[in-house]
Amino acid sequence: MNILLLGSGGRESAFAWKISQSIHCKNLFIAPGNAGTGAYGKNVNLSITDFAAIKAFCLKQSINMVLVGPEEPLVKGIHDFFLADELLKTIPVIGPQQTGAQLEGSKDFSKQFMIRHQIPTAAFKSFTKETLADGLVYLESQRLPIVLKADGLAAGKGVLICETLEDAKTELVAMLQDAKFGEASSMVVIEEFLKGIELSVFVVTDGTSYKILPEAKDYKRIGEGDTGLNTGGMGSVSPVPFADEAFMKKVEDRVIIPTIEGLKADGIPYKGFIFIGLMNDGGDPYVIEYNVRMGDPETESVIPRIESDFVELLLGVANGNLSEKQLIISTKIAATIMLVAGGYPGEYLKGRGISGIENVRDSLVFHAGTELDNNVVKSSGGRVIAITSLKDDLFDALQTATADAGRIYYDGRYFRYDIGLDLYNYQKEIS
Ligand code: AMP
Repeated sequence: MNILLLGSGGRESAFAWKISQSIHCKNLFIAPGNAGTGAYGKNVNLSITDFAAIKAFCLKQSINMVLVGPEEPLVKGIHDFFLADELLKTIPVIGPQQTGAQLEGSKDFSKQFMIRHQIPTAAFKSFTKETLADGLVYLESQRLPIVLKADGLAAGKGVLICETLEDAKTELVAMLQDAKFGEASSMVVIEEFLKGIELSVFVVTDGTSYKILPEAKDYKRIGEGDTGLNTGGMGSVSPVPFADEAFMKKVEDRVIIPTIEGLKADGIPYKGFIFIGLMNDGGDPYVIEYNVRMGDPETESVIPRIESDFVELLLGVANGNLSEKQLIISTKIAATIMLVAGGYPGEYLKGRGISGIENVRDSLVFHAGTELDNNVVKSSGGRVIAITSLKDDLFDALQTATADAGRIYYDGRYFRYDIGLDLYNYQKEIS
């Protein structure tokens, strides 16, 4: 098969690494890719939202499957674009059509969906500019802290957790009246604050059946001990020790099955990944959010634990026979550490030469924000490289990934030394 993978981050590096090992893969193209993805296929200079250019490329290279990494092309309707085109409609796109992508593209849509299908989630109410006054009154009746979410895509920045009523009111006005997040905050979901520990659960579906991929925990804050600003993700671990069989059974019964059945009942076709952000509150799962693609950096921990052929699984999604496919998951522990740019997540350094990648001893190296400049690997994004170590034991995985992260150097390089330590301590406590 000729496969086109859209995206350029660490998630896409992990996908490309795995796809390139498939017996089904003849040619892999990554658009636009990064300095590392060229090792698994051919990087192509295409914009992931330029559907006309993607069409021309697919026809020229006889592409047989398109895997969409990030959410933006899905929310903008790339799958619908393929289905509506006479020449493209037979090329399967892995990722939902626009209606399904609303699960991520609109917080209000996803909350309504959860309520309709009795999926446990935080209580909420949505407001617009026209109903701002009602929103301000509503805030007065709510417990603190309170969560404000821009309805639309806001590059991961649209969620605010407000500790005081005054702060919540100021932010609601800023979002609705002053368009703090542009069009994305023309509607705001005000949501109850959930307590507990977060984890990410991943499901792949052909619209009829589903398979549960390895779960993961990610680390969003920039600073050690989960302090400081939110980032795109500083690391991840899979599996998650507290997501034991009993908890995962609740997740499947209360969340996954109602989600798949809910999509069917609502007549929403869905072929692709569902990333369910969950809160574990005293052993009960609550949905924080849906995403319509895999997570980053969770994918860098999840994919290395999949032992079976990944393209075979994607073929099941495309052809509607996912239930016949085998998914073999390793019992090993994957730990991923993200190396980021100096200054990130604020203004950060770019274009710094990266050295030492060849010194990594016992981990996988997934490039994220990197580019080749005259054959020199340089940093180009906030999250630069993900290092994943796969071991029998959590501590070993964490220690190996940390040691290997330290072998890579560039000006301003930063990473957290405490990824997964909470899980290690939890494990020690229960054993
Ligand atoms: P989201 O974009 O919806 O995933 O929100 C980003 C982050 O905000 C989540 O990963 C949580 O850490 C936090 N968050 C979102 N909603 C809630 C909530 N209702 N209660 C507590 N934390 C939340």
